[in-house]
Amino acid sequence: NKPSSSNFIKSIVIDDLKSGKVDKVITRFPPEPNGYLHIGHAKSICLNFELADEYGGKTNLRFDDTNPLKEDVEYVESIKEDVKWLGFEWDGLFFASDYFEEMYNRAVLLIKKGKAFVCDLSPEQMREMRGTLTEPGQESPYRNRSVEENLDLFGRMRNGEFKDGEKVLRAKIDMGSPNINMRDPVLYRISHATHHNTGDTWCIYPMYAFAHPLEDAIEGVTHSICTLEFEDQRPLYDWVVHECEMENVPHQYEFARLNITNTVMSKRKLKLLVDEKFVDGWDDPRMPTISGLRRRGFTPESIRAFCREIGVARSNSLVDAKMLDHFIREDLKLKAPRTMGILRPLKVVITNYPEGQVEMLDAEINPENPEMGIRQIPFSREIYIEQDDFMEVPPSKYHRLYPGNEVRLKHAYFVKCNDVIKDENGNVVEIHCTYDPETKSGTGFTGRKVKGTIHWVEASNAVPAEFRLYEPLILDEEEGEEEEGKTFLDYVNPNSLEIVQGFIEPNMKDAEPHDKFQFFRHGYFNVDPKYTTAEKRIFNLIVSLKSSFKL
Ligand code: ATP
Ligand code: MG
Ligand code: MG
Repeated sequence: NKPSSSNFIKSIVIDDLKSGKVDKVITRFPPEPNGYLHIGHAKSICLNFELADEYGGKTNLRFDDTNPLKEDVEYVESIKEDVKWLGFEWDGLFFASDYFEEMYNRAVLLIKKGKAFVCDLSPEQMREMRGTLTEPGQESPYRNRSVEENLDLFGRMRNGEFKDGEKVLRAKIDMGSPNINMRDPVLYRISHATHHNTGDTWCIYPMYAFAHPLEDAIEGVTHSICTLEFEDQRPLYDWVVHECEMENVPHQYEFARLNITNTVMSKRKLKLLVDEKFVDGWDDPRMPTISGLRRRGFTPESIRAFCREIGVARSNSLVDAKMLDHFIREDLKLKAPRTMGILRPLKVVITNYPEGQVEMLDAEINPENPEMGIRQIPFSREIYIEQDDFMEVPPSKYHRLYPGNEVRLKHAYFVKCNDVIKDENGNVVEIHCTYDPETKSGTGFTGRKVKGTIHWVEASNAVPAEFRLYEPLILDEEEGEEEEGKTFLDYVNPNSLEIVQGFIEPNMKDAEPHDKFQFFRHGYFNVDPKYTTAEKRIFNLIVSLKSSFKL
């Protein structure tokens, strides 16, 4: 494995190991199982796993499952699959919900120390009394309940004597703190909901701010890495670890979230796209989810290289989606076999080629990687070309087929267009050409030059295939400020998917799901694992060949 690029968190780890503050780095990746992982999570996964890997440490996969209403085992399973697919192995596999009893006991400890109280205010009242950045908050009238009363009420909360929202447990810190997070934050809420892991055992659940530091401390995590929006919670994180008298003292470090152009990067929004049927599930190839990228044809290597390149910093930024494209092209350049596919077929008859004859032509599998060898492709009197590669009345600089013009058929011969056959509506349905046997590819013919080279597939052996062409899911507008009254759903690209029916070379008929190819002149494609059948291969466009992106 290549070492990860340097970043400020890595420097902290190096210092902590050197000074003896920690003797082993322990990190964790802590997703909430309320959706599928996206490429933003990949950034966090790479950071946590690579950091521990590099310094002989450990990384846990921990499900931060403290909100029963939104969580599901489907998500748990998908997250495990995605982390493994990215190429990482976790040391411990944990669920925050396995620590509920210990968390409860720590909350009881806080109550006994006079550091937590049961509060009967409604969420609205609490919000009103919380104050603002410039005004201190007001203390709850329930703040000075006795330890005995608090213990009794908290026990009864656990026993299910109260309804959702009737009571909460709050930390007793400082309603005058300039940091709003420290103004007696809620530690536990009541929720009579069935939990994916603990079922109906609990009807009170810890809040993230209370649960997360305890989870880290219980597992002995040394460097707890989260995104920048949690920076203001760091004092509370430290308060919880300290006041709960945790033996291990983890520290929180924040880094900038990954944002990418022309997409959305939050499970809430991605779930909306799924639920509102803008896409065909979490693994739709247009989604920035790991499962979507996998189905689209991205490789773990390309995603990891991308994460390495974007680095880890403390300032938020927007990364151009073209950068991800760059890394998949780089990864597939030498690996993916080249092939020819016709997306929008137009029949060509080569009138001077013997009827009934089929010859086999040699074609390189990958000119950039000659070790991949040679494939054989049939050629005969009838072939398909792209509709785009013929124009009856060409504009200037159009060097492909038009009446009277000669082009090279890749791996085959020069052909010249003589006739255009149309249907009764005037649509071109067939082109008649003649070929020149002397111009056969590989024979070293230098007699004359042509300006255009086009691809083709022999008609009688051509295998039908479906091509799915993708464009960004979200239009540019989302990059800027959303206009008033609009949501990101107003910026969903209505043309993000185009499905066309075409043909592939016969040697492609057994292509397996997830096989990746470079279709000559079209780009890189992945055999779709979801809808491909024995009868019909479906190819997802991963990325086109053209790129203006420079690193
Ligand atoms: P979302 O808003 O997408 O639900 P989240 O932060 O709530 O994101 P979690 O399941 O809590 O999702 O995330 C697990 C880990 O992944 C957290 O440590 C979080 O900081 C990190 N993470 C989530 N989104 C990104 C992102 N866009 N870039 C970098 N790290 C991220
Ligand atoms: Mg979260
Ligand atoms: Mg979230």
